[in-house]
Amino acid sequence: MIYIHVPFCKSFCIYCDFYSEIAADGAAEGYTREICREIRERSAEMDDSLKTLYFGGGTPSVLPLSSLTRILLTLEEVGHGGPYEEFTIEVNPEDLVEKGLPYVESLRKLGVNRISIGMQSLNDELLHWMNRRHNAEGALKAFHLAREAGFENISVDLIFGLSNLSDAVWEDTIRQVLELGPEHISCYQLTVEGDNVLAMRLEAGEYEEAPEEVCARQYQILCERLAWAGYEHYEISNFARPGFQAVHNGGYWARRPYVGLGPSAHSFSGKGRSWNSEELTGYKLTREELSVEDEKVETLMLALRTARGADAEFLEANCLKEDIDRLMSQGALQKTGRRYRIPEDHFFVSDEIIRELI
Ligand code: SF4
Repeated sequence: MIYIHVPFCKSFCIYCDFYSEIAADGAAEGYTREICREIRERSAEMDDSLKTLYFGGGTPSVLPLSSLTRILLTLEEVGHGGPYEEFTIEVNPEDLVEKGLPYVESLRKLGVNRISIGMQSLNDELLHWMNRRHNAEGALKAFHLAREAGFENISVDLIFGLSNLSDAVWEDTIRQVLELGPEHISCYQLTVEGDNVLAMRLEAGEYEEAPEEVCARQYQILCERLAWAGYEHYEISNFARPGFQAVHNGGYWARRPYVGLGPSAHSFSGKGRSWNSEELTGYKLTREELSVEDEKVETLMLALRTARGADAEFLEANCLKEDIDRLMSQGALQKTGRRYRIPEDHFFVSDEIIRELI
């Protein structure tokens, strides 16, 4: 599993908490050189037992095709080239629309077999408020371009839990997305974190977070609509048509080893975690071994985020029986066969449930 972080954006969304820089002329060149250097230096860490490649960001679609090609050739040179079981690229709608069909077709020719579109909303007012560069029309157009180029595995990202998102607008966005029929939908609740524009507005009293009950209701609307439309709710924030669960992200939740390349990218060796510093060039890798306790906590936290849940024997060996019994009696934990899982109607409060257990 290989993750490549592309830390460029053309402007910043008001809620952004990722490491990204405004894409300056020529920056892609230096970045590509650094990634190719890092691929060569860290190829021994790459484990192809789950052969996936994921370009995330930032905005990978601002990267020129020539850079993408050089990165792929370097991976091939060190013995970790394609085809990949899953090769995802995150894109912003405006890039697909601006660059047009030939660009999207080229992505497919390079071996990308899954495209993840940062749609976020299909309401122009909200998109403008978020400081996204696309409008609803552009988002729909980007989706159709991806289909026209032959992509049969398209994921769409959405955001809910904004205090200025009404239930009616939320339902309308979900309805339109379902009409498009993506294979996969990721949906995140807006959280105010870091030192972005939204955090400043919150502090200045210019923004108020949506009440918890509104967020819970919007999450419930989402779960119901997507279930009716035949999507499997296989992880707290992720829904897929049968057969289209994200393979790469599934690897994260199952704690498979992965190598993260590029500024701010994280890696997991199976024993320890490491991360690159947040600098465009000359970024440094910091490594950290995990204690046995850390491993247990991580395993349970990640497994309980999924509908598959955690191994019963493992959970029983690491959690107090009285906590398990109490949560079971409250309906917050279920045992099916040899696995414990948080039922869907408690996914929204899964953080609290997991905290009670570990
Ligand atoms: S596109 Fe993503 S990385 Fe770029 S500013 Fe928006 S949220 Fe941040």
